[in-house]
Amino acid sequence: MKHFPIFMALEGRRVVLSGGGEAALAKLRLLLKTEAKLVVVSDDPAPEIRTWAAEKRLTLIKRAMEPGDALCASLFYAANEDDAEDARVAALAYRDGALVNIVDNLADSQFITPAIVDRDPVTVAIGTEGAAPVLARAIKKDLEEKLSPNLGLMARIGKAFRSKVEALPFGAKRRAFWSDYYAADVADADVAQDRLEDLLDKHLHAPERDGWVDLVGAGPGDPELLTLKARKALDNADVVIYDRLVAPEILELARREAVMLSAGKEGFGPSVTQDAINEMIVSHARGGAHVVRLKSGDPTVFGRLDEEIEACEASGVKWTIVPGITSASAGVAALGQSLTKRGRNSGVRFITGHDTKGYAAHDWRALAAEGEVAAIYMGKKAARFFQGRLLMHGADPATPVTVIENASRASQRILATTLSELEPSLTEANFDGPALVFLGLAPRAALQAAEKFEQQEAAV
Ligand code: SAH
Repeated sequence: MKHFPIFMALEGRRVVLSGGGEAALAKLRLLLKTEAKLVVVSDDPAPEIRTWAAEKRLTLIKRAMEPGDALCASLFYAANEDDAEDARVAALAYRDGALVNIVDNLADSQFITPAIVDRDPVTVAIGTEGAAPVLARAIKKDLEEKLSPNLGLMARIGKAFRSKVEALPFGAKRRAFWSDYYAADVADADVAQDRLEDLLDKHLHAPERDGWVDLVGAGPGDPELLTLKARKALDNADVVIYDRLVAPEILELARREAVMLSAGKEGFGPSVTQDAINEMIVSHARGGAHVVRLKSGDPTVFGRLDEEIEACEASGVKWTIVPGITSASAGVAALGQSLTKRGRNSGVRFITGHDTKGYAAHDWRALAAEGEVAAIYMGKKAARFFQGRLLMHGADPATPVTVIENASRASQRILATTLSELEPSLTEANFDGPALVFLGLAPRAALQAAEKFEQQEAAV
């Protein structure tokens, strides 16, 4: 982020603009919405500027800019539509100590003015750091349509009512009150005021709300693979307790006020004990919070879900499961393959490389059969172990094995190998992200061909 958005208090502060034409008018129309003391310096001001000066909405200095004109100014705009003159006045204003903007000259400006959606006191500022003005305009248009023109009125009346709302306890209850209030579109000040009084009465006398727990699948990493339900749960969460594997882009989607707590564990090998996590979940829910327990992939797949459900049940805390896309689904999609295929395999196994006792025991003989497909979770460290077991039980050394790291993320990597070469290839590949091992699947030939083509292209 090269430009940090802030909202600047301009009430009573000097804002100076040099210029008198179209560019100056465009900026002045925005600046006139503020309570700044506006000064325009121009030897040839447009008629509108003269009218505004006559109406005392700004001060007009009818000459070219001179040193000292921008003294004590918070902001300065160079809007002469003449590069040489803009550079001259900008240098003067800079020396006077003002923050300088040169209209249509991003590189030499100290600040830029965003596209604005104005529902004062609700203001939305949209900036693209000059990268995509067309996009900024499209977003503005979208928001203009989405945000009711009455929003400003409602917010002003709401603001004056804030102290009364302190009768409700801080946190979830106050939030529920305000989201109720803003759920309706009210165009009349008196109606809005009555609505506030009625709602406050209703919320003050509402029965105690119980907390609850959503056990939510965050999917494999790509935020677009979140379910709408997961998205909604994150939007409404009071507390989010997340596993280490949950992608940061997904945590970004949680409600800004939500308390974010790391459960710091990765599938197997907890760094916060399961008991401590259970305790965290239950205590927040019992305090009345909407807890989102966020797990990577699908929470029902190697997610230690049952321990947490049992903890909720034991404390009488309500819970629901919000399923997610498991990493095997994302991984196999990246290979361009199916998990099951007529004539090849009529079933697929999701197995773990580890269990509580160490390397997991499986029906190696069955897994060694031709056409078998298995998605092996937490299989990186255990690769040499199951490679040995499978070969010992008669698996074909040429059985395709594909390892996919960071499935669905930008950092996704695929290692296509065979059972006999799985190790040391996997160790040599140095995968340090979460990885899934597919036994019995190779990336579809077309994908491999495309990759090869890309590699050749890159080499040329
Ligand atoms: N509930 C999760 C699995 C948790 S166990 C799910 O449904 O996907 C943790 C293991 O999942 C990791 O060791 C790795 O094998 C796998 N995994 C999770 N996210 C992954 C990803 N983006 N790419 C590849 N494997 C992943």
